[in-house]
Amino acid sequence: MNKLRPNRMGWALILLLCLTLSVSGCFRRAPQKAEADKEADVVVLGGGGAGLAAATAAAEKGASVILIEKAAFLGGNTVLAGGAFNAVNPELQGKEELKQALRDELEEILEAAEGEFGDFKGTLATLKEQIQEYFASGETKLFDSVELHMIHTYLGGKRTDLAGNEIASDFALTKTLCTNAPKAKKWLEEHGVEFSDKIDTVLGALWPRTNSVIGMGNAYIKALSEAARAKDVEIMLETRGKELIMEEGKVVGVKAEDAAGKEITIRAKKGLVMATGGFGANPEMRAKYNTYWEDLPLEMPTTNSPHISGDGIVMGEKVGANLVGMGFIQLMPSSHPETGSLFSGVWGSAETQLFVNKDGRRFVNEYAERDVLSKAALQQEDALFFIIVDQQIVGDRDIEVMLERKDIFQADTLEELAEMIAVPPENLVAEVEKYNGYVDNQHDPDFGKENFGNRIEEPPFVATPRSPAVHHTMGGLQIDTEARVLAKDGKPIPGLYAAGEVTGGIHAGNRLGGNAQADIFVFGRTAGENAAEGK
Ligand SMILES: Cc1cc2nc3c(=O)[nH]c(=O)nc-3n(C[C@H](O)[C@H](O)[C@H](O)COP(=O)(O)OP(=O)(O)OC[C@H]3O[C@@H](n4cnc5c(N)ncnc54)[C@H](O)[C@@H]3O)c2cc1C
Repeated sequence: MNKLRPNRMGWALILLLCLTLSVSGCFRRAPQKAEADKEADVVVLGGGGAGLAAATAAAEKGASVILIEKAAFLGGNTVLAGGAFNAVNPELQGKEELKQALRDELEEILEAAEGEFGDFKGTLATLKEQIQEYFASGETKLFDSVELHMIHTYLGGKRTDLAGNEIASDFALTKTLCTNAPKAKKWLEEHGVEFSDKIDTVLGALWPRTNSVIGMGNAYIKALSEAARAKDVEIMLETRGKELIMEEGKVVGVKAEDAAGKEITIRAKKGLVMATGGFGANPEMRAKYNTYWEDLPLEMPTTNSPHISGDGIVMGEKVGANLVGMGFIQLMPSSHPETGSLFSGVWGSAETQLFVNKDGRRFVNEYAERDVLSKAALQQEDALFFIIVDQQIVGDRDIEVMLERKDIFQADTLEELAEMIAVPPENLVAEVEKYNGYVDNQHDPDFGKENFGNRIEEPPFVATPRSPAVHHTMGGLQIDTEARVLAKDGKPIPGLYAAGEVTGGIHAGNRLGGNAQADIFVFGRTAGENAAEGK
């Protein structure tokens, strides 16, 4: 035994070896934690709708929360939004009659071939049973169901890009979205958000299931920022997330830059939620990824806040997140031709709108998806068109400023209106007359409009000039139904959650109008709750 024990010289050699290895770092040290200036259970990046929903939900689960926002104010694109929120709402939809044109739509769904609906074929089968039951019952009120919302999301999003790549909505995410949209709306109401008592179709929503928030997007931001502050969420403005911190394969925090340009490290003990929005205001990033539009000039205006520059997508990709659907960018057809702003015009629910080009002619089904409308608009002279409405839609809105700025034009006759917008009067008059006939017959033989509002007949008439602008980026970080960010191998990246426009997968090639608000609050809330539980 003694032979195995080292002598004095042996001990000296072992000591020397240990010293060498330790100096050269060959012994595994206990993992060093990055020094943190601040820490909380949950750290949220981005103070738009998804980020505030996540922060509030996490705090309501008892977590300590820090939210960082790079702008000097909260809100992102959410505060600019109309706030149109798609969710099945039997109470309000039950007050509306099912119009003949929509009944025809349901008949068409009964004829659809399930084989063409991919992962959604079971959904279509269930929907057909629901429609048959509805018809058999003799019911006359507006039909809707979670399955119809899912099928519209699928049909609205299934697209092929310029290279022939097909994309369709992720089934599990879409089911989660449509099933939970009414619950998210209720959650918002519990936090003080109010909705109007009428169901509409926001442009490109494909069915009357749009709930209109009172006070537009600002109402969400106001209610949730108050709720977050009431739960002691620490909100740091002018603080930009720059880089995620990974330790042993887990996201544990973020390096950020504060208002004074100083780097700070914020540690997330349980989870970090990425909610930095899309990349609609980043022309270079749009150009880098676009695979859907033949021409997407860098100078094309956008409806977005300038802060929506894709930061979270870049940060997520650096820690191994899988990106999905990045090539698909939505143009909003009805944007201001120079500024891209959205709410500088007058229109109503999609079925009430009439679009004419510079020749005074209709050129598209105004109830169609936004990419269909934008493609058609881009083919018109100067990519310009006018939304024509009458006094029934203008109602008691204050339009003085819009008139002064020549954002809109108003006249007592269609002929006068046509003169003002330099459109041949006889064409505009003939087109409106023809369109009113389609409203009466609930059938549009020219473009197949699927839903009709009022006849355009009550003066004064209003025309709003419009042209497509960049509006929404459908692609982003891949998530699962628990809002966990997925790596390229399909496994969740521990510690990292995401919600809102920074994510991809649900809206595929074209988002339905009104589906983004549902998305940010359904998944924002889930992301916050799961981050709080480290799920
Ligand atoms: C004018 C307009 C009208 C719209 N109307 C509707 C509508 O009626 N219905 C509908 O469904 N959808 C609508 N949309 C789309 C919808 O509003 C957005 O998709 C949605 O609000 C995005 O929410 P979000 O929380 O994901 O991101 P945002 O609300 O955009 O918030 C992201 C936040 O992250 C911050 N941020 C970015 N980078 C960083 C960083 N590095 N560090 C810290 N913070 C960062 C941004 O400053 C921003 O505040 C509209 C969009 C626009 C632009």
